[in-house]
Amino acid sequence: MTFKAEYIWIDGTEPTAKLRSKTRILADGAELPTWGFDGSSTNQAEGHASDRVLKPVFSCPDPIRGGDDVLVLCEVFNIDGSAHETNTRALLRPIAEQYASQEAIFGIEQEYNFFKDGRPFGFPVNGYPAAQGGYYCGVGADEVFGRDIVELHMERCLTAGLAFCGINAEVMPGQWEFQIGPVDALTVSDHLWVARWLLYRTAEEFDVAVTIDAKPVKGDWNGAGAHTNFSTKAMREGYPAIITACEALGSDQEKVLEHVNQYGHGIQDRLTGLHETAPWDVYSYGVSDRGASVRIPWQVEVEQKGYIEDRRPNANVDPYVVTRLLVNTCCSALEK
Ligand code: ADP
Ligand code: MN
Ligand code: MN
Ligand code: MN
Ligand code: MN
Repeated sequence: MTFKAEYIWIDGTEPTAKLRSKTRILADGAELPTWGFDGSSTNQAEGHASDRVLKPVFSCPDPIRGGDDVLVLCEVFNIDGSAHETNTRALLRPIAEQYASQEAIFGIEQEYNFFKDGRPFGFPVNGYPAAQGGYYCGVGADEVFGRDIVELHMERCLTAGLAFCGINAEVMPGQWEFQIGPVDALTVSDHLWVARWLLYRTAEEFDVAVTIDAKPVKGDWNGAGAHTNFSTKAMREGYPAIITACEALGSDQEKVLEHVNQYGHGIQDRLTGLHETAPWDVYSYGVSDRGASVRIPWQVEVEQKGYIEDRRPNANVDPYVVTRLLVNTCCSALEK
């Protein structure tokens, strides 16, 4: 007897990487083998030396095929054994290891938009729908578009065993959010990439496309972000560590730009200072402030411990990158 393994990896598409996958039939009980692919078709190699290597790093039950079938997330390597330049997970591994004793955990809020027939799902054929106001956490056929897809996606993520912790309808028609967390940096990132794959794959069954573009509709419509909630053991135990982390993120302008420049393509289009955002190049933090770069939730101030929310990452951010930057910046400051 056999089972199906869907090998999933992150490609080299510029400026935002895409997910790719292919299926391998394996004998029952077989270990997940190293595999390969044609890197010249994914912007990860030249045609004359195109082989790239897939190494399984995380697997879970395949909630679509069921049975013993699995989803297999991979890292991409060159044939000489070195990590491929698009392999950002390989950069996170040593940083997560270095600061492991601080027990950093993350919750990422993934916003995204559905598109149908080339238009934002819920937009009329001609013109625009009613302005933003009624859609966020809405109910009813005039407010909500794509709930059947969202419910099925949630069910599948839970069946796969992902650290999936919630959903909500967002502020523009056809815009939604799901959250993964709170778990360590590698886990939140692996689970988020697999949850993204399941989202594209599930919406495909409804002939609906998904985009994690940061500003999918120009004009007076919210962009799509990936608020990244973060804490260490010290932050979960006391307020001084919360402030240390907030200060470290704004220690100087170079630090601010190091982060925002790697927080996803099109950050300037989304972090305009309007639509519940702070300007991309001006760092600020504050309690309950959804217009700040970093928000300290109100309960965290009341309880004098907890976590912070970096509101800057775009929906199209690479979670391996944002978690690495946060651990690097905040854990090194907290170590002092
Ligand atoms: P909001 O929309 O109010 O910003 P959400 O409920 O969408 O908040 O998301 C909150 C996120 O915070 C969740 O992903 C959750 O996993 C995460 N979270 C909760 N507690 C912690 C913590 N101590 N450290 C890191 N992340 C946390
Ligand atoms: Mn072939
Ligand atoms: Mn949220
Ligand atoms: Mn949101
Ligand atoms: Mn948020």
